[in-house]
Amino acid sequence: MTMNNVGRPTAPVAAETAATASTFTGNRGLDIEEPLLFEAGRPDATGVDFEDAGAFEPRLGTLARTAPVDLPGLSEPETMRHYVRLSRQNYAIDLGLYPLGSCTMKHNPRLNEAMARLPGFADVHPLQPLSTAAGAVELIAELGRWLLELTGMASVAMSPKAGAHGEMCGMAAIKAAIADRGEARDVVLVPESAHGTNPATAAQLGFRVVGVPARADGTVDPEEVRKRLGPEVAAIMLTNPNTCGLFERDIVEIAEAAHAAGAYFYADGANFNAIVGKVRPGDLGVDAMHINLHKTFSTPHGGGGPGAGPVVLSDRLAPYAPVPFVRFGEDGAAEFVETRKAAGDRGLKPFGRITAFHGQMGMFVRALAYMLSHGADGLRQASEDAVLAANYVKARLADVMTVAFPERPAMHEVLFDDRFLEGTGVTTLDFAKAMIDEGYHPMTMYFPLVVHGALLIEPTESESKASLNQFIGMLRHLAEKARAGEAGAFKAAPRLAPRRRVDETLAARQPKLVY
Ligand SMILES: *Cc1c(COP(=O)(O)O)cnc(C)c1O
Repeated sequence: MTMNNVGRPTAPVAAETAATASTFTGNRGLDIEEPLLFEAGRPDATGVDFEDAGAFEPRLGTLARTAPVDLPGLSEPETMRHYVRLSRQNYAIDLGLYPLGSCTMKHNPRLNEAMARLPGFADVHPLQPLSTAAGAVELIAELGRWLLELTGMASVAMSPKAGAHGEMCGMAAIKAAIADRGEARDVVLVPESAHGTNPATAAQLGFRVVGVPARADGTVDPEEVRKRLGPEVAAIMLTNPNTCGLFERDIVEIAEAAHAAGAYFYADGANFNAIVGKVRPGDLGVDAMHINLHKTFSTPHGGGGPGAGPVVLSDRLAPYAPVPFVRFGEDGAAEFVETRKAAGDRGLKPFGRITAFHGQMGMFVRALAYMLSHGADGLRQASEDAVLAANYVKARLADVMTVAFPERPAMHEVLFDDRFLEGTGVTTLDFAKAMIDEGYHPMTMYFPLVVHGALLIEPTESESKASLNQFIGMLRHLAEKARAGEAGAFKAAPRLAPRRRVDETLAARQPKLVY
């Protein structure tokens, strides 16, 4: 099989057949085959009884409908079953450990859900005048205050709706600040271990991306940064702890070098879970950092709910924050600045607006509920436990898998490479697929790109020792099985999933968006 330079197979996987066992229904036990809604539906079926509309004059004049609407028709019980059956094919944090490195798949506490469903928060409408939603406004301000306290920064833009969106917001503020200085800096430095969203954000905003190689120990070398700094450099984007799970010890030196060269320091805060209550990014010289509420602060990910990526800004960037934003007066009172004009009247220069309204209200409620229920000491403890869990996994697997950077303690996640699979015929991908048969969602694979065949594990503080032990036992079993020459079993995996291997490259390049 052909591999790219990080060891990820690039050739299409041979088409697997017999995705389902040979039963009359195609079901496998209570694992029920489910067609697409559009395949299952019938145009004449409906879950609701409508009165016959009778004769009416279409208001669109000559624009008469020539074909049926093509919506799937199902009865209410059929609709219900469709979604419940699909939900059973999903893996979720509520089902089991979710070791997806750099994603902080932690438990979503039920208390958060109860708070978010309070009608005053759940039913608030974005077009309501702020004066009629004083409680919601206060909640956003209070969450902003916690974020500033935890990060040691000057100002916060609450509206971005994901980490990547927050990056866009922070980097747009940097771009505006540079334009305001009358400078034309168009280069952004991005280390090799960075998440793909970093270079993508910089490129999207028209910056040229220049890579910074990683040192042999997985961290960024300040010397390599210094070599690339110059009057054309707008910013460096750095993640700390980085995506190798290592704390960038030279971060202050790097920040100072960037500042001395007139550049800004954007910190990717996706890995904040490792350091909450331990170190404040503001003290490290950070100018802008997004915070993934859906990672560090326990709000649901993906299908469980929208993301939220507030961005904290330094004094130097605060004037350029997008409207609307929260500002805190000398007396600590919160002020919402809603329009560019209102911002301009206060001597501020917002780069614009990044969302229509104030952000993800439901996620703000959940994140604040998480913070208040943990308290300052609890938040620090969560970080410590997350780091402890990752180091426990590292210590218990170090003899059967290869830790990429064994010399340094891991932070909240531990990175393995594929040297332990050398000569076995098993790839990282095969190994991950075998985990599915064992009932686990695989870890992050082939990322970061700085090591070969990466396996990045982030257990989070949510897991008990018993849960970690079972996970470790499973990985040890698979590692030993690979070494015992059972490559065939790995190549056939997953055998027990609703679908076996699909051609991911083809699916990404030529997505079939119609059935
Ligand atoms: C998750 C992640 C992002 C992007 O955040 P989203 O909320 O998924 O947009 C950026 N950088 C790193 C290191 C991440 O782990």
